Amino acid sequence: MSKQLFKTKPYLSSNFQKEIWELKDFNEISFREEVNVFYNKKFDILKLKNNNIDDFNQKAETISVSRNQLFKNKNDHIFECPICNSKEIEKETINIYNAKYVQCSNCSHNFVRNRLTNEELINFYTNSTNYQSTYTNEAQIQNRIDEIYKPKLDWVLNAFEKKFGRKPKRILDVGTGSGHFVKMCLDEGITCDGIEVSKSGLDFAKKNFNIDLYDKDIFSNWEFFKTKDYDLITFWGLIEHVTDPLKLLKISSKILGNNDSMIVGSVPRLHSLSSFIQRSFPEKIIRHLDPLGHIQMFTDLSLSTLVHDSNFKLHSLWYFGMDSYELLVQLASFSKSNTLLDKQIIKELQFLMDINTLSDSMIFTATNNNDE
Ligand SMILES: [Zn+2]
Repeated sequence: MSKQLFKTKPYLSSNFQKEIWELKDFNEISFREEVNVFYNKKFDILKLKNNNIDDFNQKAETISVSRNQLFKNKNDHIFECPICNSKEIEKETINIYNAKYVQCSNCSHNFVRNRLTNEELINFYTNSTNYQSTYTNEAQIQNRIDEIYKPKLDWVLNAFEKKFGRKPKRILDVGTGSGHFVKMCLDEGITCDGIEVSKSGLDFAKKNFNIDLYDKDIFSNWEFFKTKDYDLITFWGLIEHVTDPLKLLKISSKILGNNDSMIVGSVPRLHSLSSFIQRSFPEKIIRHLDPLGHIQMFTDLSLSTLVHDSNFKLHSLWYFGMDSYELLVQLASFSKSNTLLDKQIIKELQFLMDINTLSDSMIFTATNNNDE
């Protein structure tokens, strides 16, 4: 790698520390920052996920058939790293359902080289009700708000307040899905707009929350959004789905303009227990390294590069994931035993993964550089 990331080592057993992150490019320092780093998130995954192994196997079978079919005849067509534009790509690939994840030699980012085209992806997200079904399940609304969205909102508000000494005035949630996050912000008295392209997401938000989401493309409508005076833009589970994350963040920097402002996003991590497990069970992947949706797979270095190169400054990070659940669900499926999915084991094992930075997700906040 011509780029390298140096970080303070995590303390074992601590769930917060200030770390120094230093990004070097050919031995030149690109940035050196103090970053607020959080480890582990308490949540009960079994409340949200089905713990029936037969259902898991069935879902894996459906996804395997669909993805293998989609990628079987898909030729390689991405020859540049979507994060740093380097053409130096390593030969070794992770092959999942005939899709090929390759690694950039410059910034260590992993991406699907034979992904669907932009048009195919947009078509897929616009029309697929199947993909949205987890997120549009009405019975799960309150559980999802309590277990997923509320802890994230609290964390972001805390980061924003620490930095600027006030709450955000207006939030834009990009790729908002069914509108849970927008709904929760409004309930907390914070103005929040959402953008979504899928019909099922738009309908769900209208029907259940009476919220009108924007169905505008952010790339071609950024000037419209700039007039709204946002000071926080959120990307929950979006960046890994888009074909050009660098352009997305650069546009976000323009939308935020000269305000004291921040972005927050969650991204999947390559260097995680989930990746390790899924490479051992490549025919049973229903999340994380699912190459249809997750066309971008991040490392700490590639995320730092993305943030820095799009005019932002890394402010805080939060490592957590579903790695222990992934391990146990795969083992349960392998040994045909539901008893492996134990709440306490999932919790303790995940804590161990998180404090060793082996989590499959991270959330970051970054402040907009106002000096341009
Ligand atoms: Zn790269």
